[in-house]
Amino acid sequence: MLEIACNLSRIRASLPESVTLIAVSKTHPAEAIRQAFDAGHRIFGESRPQELCAKYEVLPKQIEWHMIGHLQTNKVKYIAPFVRMIQSVDSARLAETIQREAAKCGRIIDILLEIHVAQEETKSGWELGELKRYVDSAAFASMPNVRVRGIMGIATHTDDRSVIRRDFSELKRCFELLQPYFGARFDTLSMGMSHDYLLAVECGSTMVRVGSSIFGKRDYSRQ
Ligand SMILES: *Cc1c(COP(=O)(O)O)cnc(C)c1O
Repeated sequence: MLEIACNLSRIRASLPESVTLIAVSKTHPAEAIRQAFDAGHRIFGESRPQELCAKYEVLPKQIEWHMIGHLQTNKVKYIAPFVRMIQSVDSARLAETIQREAAKCGRIIDILLEIHVAQEETKSGWELGELKRYVDSAAFASMPNVRVRGIMGIATHTDDRSVIRRDFSELKRCFELLQPYFGARFDTLSMGMSHDYLLAVECGSTMVRVGSSIFGKRDYSRQ
C-alpha cells in the first residue's frame, strides 16, 4: 500500500467511528491529496486561501474543504464559493464578512469559533469572556448564511501531557458553555493534531486535524 494510504488507515483505525478526521494537506502537493482521495478520504484542511483555491481547481469536486488557518477578511471572497467549513473564525469582523460573502454566493457556510487556550500569546482565537459577550449580543441571529457548528482550538505546543490535557479540558468546558446558545447543530469540538489527537479524543474531541502523521513532514521552503 502507498505510504499515505497506509498512514490514513492506521490513524482511522485508532479513532472512534464518531470522530471526523481532517487530513491537513497544507504545503503538500495536489498529488499527495490525490493519493489520499484514491484511498477513499474526502475531507481536507488547508491554511492559506490561495493554496486552497489552487488545489480546489485541480482536484475532484467531491472533496470537502476546511479552512483551518488564520483568515484575513479580504480573502474570504476567494473561498466562499466552495469551502465547506471555516474553522478559524476568531473575530466578529471575520464572521460578518463570511455572512456577506456567503450570501453573495447563495450559500450557507459552516463555521467554528476558534478559542485561544494555549500558553503562547502568538496563537489566535477568542478569549472566552469576549466571545460570550459577542454571542450574548445575538449577533449570529442576523447571520442567516453562517451556521455556527462548534469550536476549534489548539493546545499549547509542549511535550507535557498534563498541560495539553488541561488545554483540551478547557476547550471542552468552553464547548459545553456555548452549546445552549446554539442548540443541537452545535455539535463539533475540533481539537487534536498529529502529536496529540489521541489525547484530544480522550478529552471529548469530535474532529481531529492531522497533517504530518498522514503526509509526512512539511517543507515550507518548497512554497
Ligand atoms: C497545520 C495544522 C494542523 C496539523 O498539524 P500536524 O501537526 O501536522 O498534524 C492542525 N491544525 C491546524 C490549525 C494547523 O494549522
